[in-house]
Formats: sequence, C-alpha cells, structure tokens
Amino acid sequence: MQFTDLGLSAELLRAIGEQGYTTPTPVQQQAIPHILAGRDLEALAQTGTGKTAAFVLPILQRLTNPQTSPLQKVTHTAPRVLVLVPTRELAAQVLESVRVYGAHTGLRSLAVFGGVGINPQIQTLRRGIDILVATPGRLLDHLGQRTVDLSKVQTLVLDEADRMFDMGFIRDIRRIIERLPKVRQNLMFSATFAAEVRELAHAVLKNPALVEVARRNAPAELVSHSVIKVDQDKKRDLLLHLFAAHGWHQVLVFCRTKHGSDALARKLEQSGVRTAALHGNKSQNARTRALADFKAGKLAALVATDIAARGLDIDSLPRVVNFELPNVPEDYIHRIGRTGRAGASGEALSLVSSDERIQLRDIERLLKREIPTSVMPGFEPQHNHSVPRPAAGRPPAQKPAQARTRSGSGDRSGAPRSPRPARSGGGAAKPASHHSGQRHR
Ligand code: AMP
Repeated sequence: MQFTDLGLSAELLRAIGEQGYTTPTPVQQQAIPHILAGRDLEALAQTGTGKTAAFVLPILQRLTNPQTSPLQKVTHTAPRVLVLVPTRELAAQVLESVRVYGAHTGLRSLAVFGGVGINPQIQTLRRGIDILVATPGRLLDHLGQRTVDLSKVQTLVLDEADRMFDMGFIRDIRRIIERLPKVRQNLMFSATFAAEVRELAHAVLKNPALVEVARRNAPAELVSHSVIKVDQDKKRDLLLHLFAAHGWHQVLVFCRTKHGSDALARKLEQSGVRTAALHGNKSQNARTRALADFKAGKLAALVATDIAARGLDIDSLPRVVNFELPNVPEDYIHRIGRTGRAGASGEALSLVSSDERIQLRDIERLLKREIPTSVMPGFEPQHNHSVPRPAAGRPPAQKPAQARTRSGSGDRSGAPRSPRPARSGGGAAKPASHHSGQRHR
C-alpha cells in the first residue's frame, strides 16, 4: 500500500513526499481510514511505529475539508482539535509533526506546556489556532485564566494514554474532557491496554475502531540485551571505562532519579565525555537544546530519567545504557524502544548491582528470557549478586555461585570476561506478573 491509496489530499501527499515517505506504516494503514471516516479509535501503538502521523494526517485532512469541518478557520479562533500528551517533549514533537505534515494546508497550531512563559501562548491563542497540543497541567492553567476556549473542539486525541495515567494526569484529563463539546471524535493511543486505560477508553470512546500493531522494534529480535554486574559505587567508573574503551557516541543513559542523572552527567562531563542531562527539573530551553545537540551527534551521552525520555523521537540510536534498572519492568521495554528502530540493530546494556536483582528478575520474566550476564575485569562486584528465584515451587534456574557466568555464554570457567551481547537468552523465565513498583521521576 502507498500513501496515495489512502485518499489523502494533494497538500498532505506533497508534505509526506517532502519527508521522503512513500509507504504508510501498519498503524497508519489501519488507523487513517477509520479516522478519515470520522470514527472513534483505540490504538495500541508505541512510539516509533509512526503513530503520530497516523492521527495527524487524517485530522489535517478533515480540518481542511468543508464537509467534515464546516467551521472554517477564518470564522473563529478557537481550536477544533485538541491533542493531550503527557510530556513537554512529546508536545513539541507532535507540534512539529502537525507543522511538517500541515505545511501546505494553511492551518495554524500551537503547543502549550509548562516550564515556559504562559504569555506568548496566550497571545497565540488570541490570534486563533486550529490545532492545540497540550500537556494537561498547562491546559488547565489556561482554562482557569479563560485564555483558551475548548467549545469548538471536534476531535480529541489522547496520546500515550498509559503514560498519562502513570504520571497521575487522569483527574486533569477528566476535568478537561468535561469542558469539551459532547459530540466529537475521540482518538486514543496507548502503548499498553492496562486496566485503567481500558476504563478510560470505555468512558470516552464511542464504538471505537480497534487498531493494534506490533512494535516496530520488537526488542527480542532487534536489540541485543546484556548485563554487567557491578557494585553500585563502581558504576560510574565502569561507565567511563566503557566510553573510553569503545569510543561510544550517542548513548542514551538511564537513571532512576533527577538527582542521579545530574550527578552522573556532571561526572561524565568532567571526565571529557560530552554529556547533557534530560529531566523534569531542566528548563524547557535546556531540554530542547540537549535533545537537539544529542540528535546532531554533538553529545556522546544523554543522561535521562524515564519520564523525560518518554516519547523521544531519536532514530537509529545505537545504544541504550541502563545505569540503574527501572523499578517497573515495562519501563525497560520503553527504554530500549529508543534503540533498534526501523530495522537497525541496537544494544541495551544494563549495569546491575546486587540490590537490583529483583528488578532484573522481573525484566527477564517480562522479556521471557534470561539476559546474558558478565563481569568486567577490574570492576568485579564484591557484593553477592545471587538472584532469588520466584517462590511457588519453581526450581532455581541456577545456583547463586554460578551467577557470574550464567546464561548461555558457553564460558563456565568463572573467569571475568567482557560483556558479550546475545540475541537469544535461555528463555527460562516466566512471563511477568503485574508488578507495581514505586516510580521515580
Ligand atoms: P512516531 O511513532 O510517531 O514517534 O514516529 C516515529 C518515526 O517514524 C518518526 O521519526 C517519523 O518521522 C517516522 N515515520 C512516520 N511515518 C513514516 C513512514 N510512513 N515511513 C517512514 N518513516 C515514518
């Protein structure tokens, strides 16, 4: 199937062609006809699948068609489309897509999010826009100040709905939805169909079409996973050693906390690795600049928290390093979703200390495989790394004493060795049970 088969207007096809795209991705193929037809939609699709264009293109088309959008942009100033997103970065990226694909439509758009001045947003809203992309908090500020009018919204998009739940936005979302016209089109995109997402879908969507697409970067196939066991207090030195030894560039490094990200970024920078930190305490300008520099290859490392990295659109990132494992195993999948995209292979390396063994076990269960594990000469852990095996009578996969050479390496000598990523693990682990860990931002 080609984009020309989807019934999109000449203006949109021109913009798509300018991006060099000819073939719609699976989520685009499936979602665009439903959205063009005016249906509600529930889509299970992650970042990297082309989901943004899947809703932006048909929305633009409907806005420029007098039959589907009788209110023309010259007659009013209030937005007709509202896209709610969890983070500022995602808001900026969605806005960019709206502007790129809408370059020849004459439609006007704006993103409102916190961390930047509200006045320029108010001025743009006054001048009139067609598409508003917003994070819930800042949109509520505008509603409180009566600087935005949502009475003309004909299409609502909830993007990364699962993440909005994780970030505690559900009440805000409900308050915003109360201010929208009752008759409207609703589109919801989520990486998971967790129970609370289903509940919201049930409340908001009317007879939705369902679209479900496989990850573009199925982690099992395209990403090599590996673990180096190391004591917590040696992780920084080990990471520096890896940068120096391998001449790494464009590495996305994950930490659990903002404070930890800052401290690690400082240490890397002091040691000559060009680094920036990306987290919620950074000003919007600093975050935008860090991301642009990273994408342009000016930074060797970007140290990020899970929330800040959510939805980052960075193509073909060669390597993700988990400086600390996430508490929620699904976040591991989100993290490594930044690498191995679009058919490129990627590497996900985790530095795991003894107090993270439970998280590692949960991640392996989710992946349904064991991750090859090694130790690095000179950085051998002093603490016990044995992984407690699940209760309920399952036999241990191995004895604790064998931990340093477990997982299919063929190396049973117990001698230290370098990390050796592998594409297939032992497969001994069970699927994850639902795990609710404390989330750090
Ligand atoms: P998304 O899932 O929306 O974050 O998109 C991921 C990446 O895929 C973005 O860099 C898009 O520009 C790119 N993309 C979107 N649609 C297509 C397409 N049909 N062909 C190739 N790349 C695309």
